[in-house]
Formats: sequence, structure tokens, C-alpha cells
Amino acid sequence: MAKSKNKKAMRKMGQAMMATMPLQMKVHVMAKMLLAGNDEDKHRKIMEDVKQKRRFTLPRDQIEWYPTIDHHKCQSCRVCLDFCPRGVFEEDDHDNITVSKPYECVMLCSGCEIQCPHDAISFPDRKDFYRYVYYV
Ligand code: SF4
Ligand code: SF4
Repeated sequence: MAKSKNKKAMRKMGQAMMATMPLQMKVHVMAKMLLAGNDEDKHRKIMEDVKQKRRFTLPRDQIEWYPTIDHHKCQSCRVCLDFCPRGVFEEDDHDNITVSKPYECVMLCSGCEIQCPHDAISFPDRKDFYRYVYYV
């Protein structure tokens, strides 16, 4: 189950990156993906290379891409806290999970939203953030 959620998160991230790429780059990346067949490590490597070329039009702390927790739904299960590799979440003194470092969130990632078993995490509309991304 966790594996399929991870795959879903990766797929969503890949789709978001594809949507922000200029056409020529997109064609190039798609051709590489096709050549890589079903090799997931190669797919990951291709996307890592793309990430290295990604830049933002504003400093990260001026782009409001980060998760919001609905505290009516959140059960403080800590799944998001354990999942996020960037330490975006924190547990406060009352066992509430909070978004303590919003600007550490990876642009266009929404992996924790998929992981949350209580549907308590949301993000703004991804398409509104494509304009902040370009490639060198
Ligand atoms: S995964 Fe969802 S329910 Fe669990 S602590 Fe995080 S926001 Fe709350
Ligand atoms: S979207 Fe990714 S980087 Fe951002 S808080 Fe969730 S898991 Fe962490």
C-alpha cells in the first residue's frame, strides 16, 4: 500500500515537472523515458537530472506552495511527519501536527497529501504555480 502511494506521489510529481518543461525538453525527456523502459531507477535518475536544471522566478520564501492541515480531520498519526524528507512538519507540545517550515516544502511536491490516511492535507491548485518554474 505504502509502495503504491509512493509511486502515485512520484507520478504526480513527474507530471507536474513535465507540465512546466518547454516542449523541446519534454520531447527529449520522454524519449529518454521510453528508452529506459520499465527501469524505475533510470526514470528516477532522468527526473533528478531535470530537477538540477529547474529554477524559480522568485526566491522560494515568496512562493506559497506548501501543505495546509485541516485540524478537524487530522488525527495526529504522524504519517506526514515521518514521510516528509524536508522536515516541514512538527509536533507541538499538545500533540498537534503543524506545518512549521512551509518553505522547506519541495516545489510542486504533494507526496504527504497522498500519504495522509485522514485526508487532512491539502495544497493549492498546482497549475497556478507552473509560472514560477523555468529551466536552464
Ligand atoms: S498524516 Fe494526516 S492525519 Fe496524520 S498527522 Fe499528518 S495531517 Fe494529521
Ligand atoms: S509535499 Fe513533499 S516536501 Fe512538501 S511537505 Fe509534503 S512530503 Fe514534504
